[in-house]
Formats: sequence, structure tokens, C-alpha cells
Amino acid sequence: MDPARVVHSPQYRCDIGLHVFPTPKYDGVLGQLLEGGDVTAAEVLEPPAATRALLECVHTREYLDDLDALRLTERTAYSEMRLAPDVLAAFARHASGTWQATQVALAEGACAHVGGGLHHAHAGHAEGFCFYNDLAVAARMALDTAGVSRVAIVDLDVHQGNGTAAIFAGEPRVFTLSLHQERNYPAIKPPSTLDVGLEDGVDDAAYAAALAPALEAVWAFAPELLLYQAGADPFHDDQLGGLRLSFEGLEARDRAVIDGCVRRGIPVVTTLGGGYARRLEDTVRIHATTSRLAVRAAAARAAS
Ligand SMILES: [Zn+2]
Repeated sequence: MDPARVVHSPQYRCDIGLHVFPTPKYDGVLGQLLEGGDVTAAEVLEPPAATRALLECVHTREYLDDLDALRLTERTAYSEMRLAPDVLAAFARHASGTWQATQVALAEGACAHVGGGLHHAHAGHAEGFCFYNDLAVAARMALDTAGVSRVAIVDLDVHQGNGTAAIFAGEPRVFTLSLHQERNYPAIKPPSTLDVGLEDGVDDAAYAAALAPALEAVWAFAPELLLYQAGADPFHDDQLGGLRLSFEGLEARDRAVIDGCVRRGIPVVTTLGGGYARRLEDTVRIHATTSRLAVRAAAARAAS
């Protein structure tokens, strides 16, 4: 049997109505990987539906009860998403997907989740298009059930990873890095282990210069697993971002993280996070590049 290289579900393309968040991007990224010959259909794994127990390893019962009952409360109101069973099931499956990709990465060295990176979800409330924090679920499961003792979550979305930061505050086994545009959502930024707030309009060179020392801090932590939130929204033509990265700058960013893991033998999982380029194909291209690098890392290890 072919080893899994990519985790994806057709359910991710759920109908959230007219919205800046493009759910068709998930199928678009997978399509590029298949058409480009990066993976075969047999190497794509579909995650199971998320169980309540999986979600409870991070999220509070009160919050999950509100979601299950489709109750509009202070815990659910800030998702900025439609509260509907199909939408919730789709986003819960991202949490299952990142955990599944983590299990593959622990065995194979790397895995691309064509989904996930929903870093604004907190333990007890939804926020910013995020209901369930898949990164936190996967990190917690790896610590609790997979014998992993240190996890790094590297969040390079243009927006600060507030949910992940808050969930792992005071948890010494998890290193959270967020490198983001300082003057952007969220207004309140709970401290990550390391936050790097960038000025508006930062370009490829300045971004790389800020990323390098931040990654050195991650490597010094000696993680046994790295979960990468590779948001596409630092792109210069993003509608919700104010940085000025090019396609090449974003690929250099991805290589710094993924190649850095490969050199050190750290299992790495890529997740997509945000991406709101004016042209959907630009967002898809950025995410496909990230995912392709993870697929190639796993293939190279298998061949060595
Ligand atoms: Zn974002």
C-alpha cells in the first residue's frame, strides 16, 4: 500500500454562503497536487469525522454544547460563520485531519494537510472563521497519546495565532511561534512563547530577516514534532493582509521551515490557514507550493 502523503476531505468545501473565506481552495490545492504528479489518488487520506472526545481534548464542554445545539451565544457568535450542522461538521473534520496528518508525519517524516490551520479558535469560544483549533488538538493528542514530549507550532499566517497562544499559555511542552503583521486582527494578542510583530508592508527580504532568528529559537527548543500554519495571507495581493510577500518570498518562508525540519529530523505537518488573495488561483498556488514541499520531504526520506 502506498504511504499517505496528503490528508484532505471533499467535505472541506462546505457552503458558507457569500464569504471572504474561500472553501473551494481545498479542492483546488489537492487538484494541483494530483495534476502536477506530486501525489497519486492512492496517497491521499481522508480523515474520519471528528469525535466529541477528540474535540474535548482542547475545547470546553459548554462551548461544544453550544455548537452542537446551534446556539448563538457569546461563545459561538464571533466565528463570523454560518452556524449550521454541515459547516460545523466540515470544520470539525479539519481537527481530525490535522491529527491524522500528525500521525502520518510521525511515521513518515512529513505530511501535508490540505486543510487546517484554524488558529483563532480558543478553548471556550469561536473567533475569526475558526470553530475548532486543529493545531491545538493535534499537539495535545501528540503529547497525550503518541509519546511526543515537545511540540512546536510555527504560525506564519499574517494574523497572530491568538487561540493557539491562549490554549498553550503556561504549557512548557509546547512552543508557539507567531510571526504576523502587528497592526492587524486580532486586536488583543495573547502572548505566544515567541511573538514577532511585523510592520505594515514588510517585503520578502525583511520577512526572511525576521523569520531566521525566530526559527533559531524554535530549533533551540528541540521539538519532536512541528506543526506549521502556513497562511497564504502575507501575500502582497491579500485582501485581509498588509504585508508584501511575493510567491518567491512565500516559498522561501516555507523552505526555511520545512527544510529546517528535514535537516534536523523533526516530523513536520503543514496546514493551510488563511488566504484571501483577490484571485483564488493565487491563494491556491501558494498553498499548493507549501503542500508540495511537505510531500517531497516525505518522499525524499522514503527514498533515502
Ligand atoms: Zn490569517
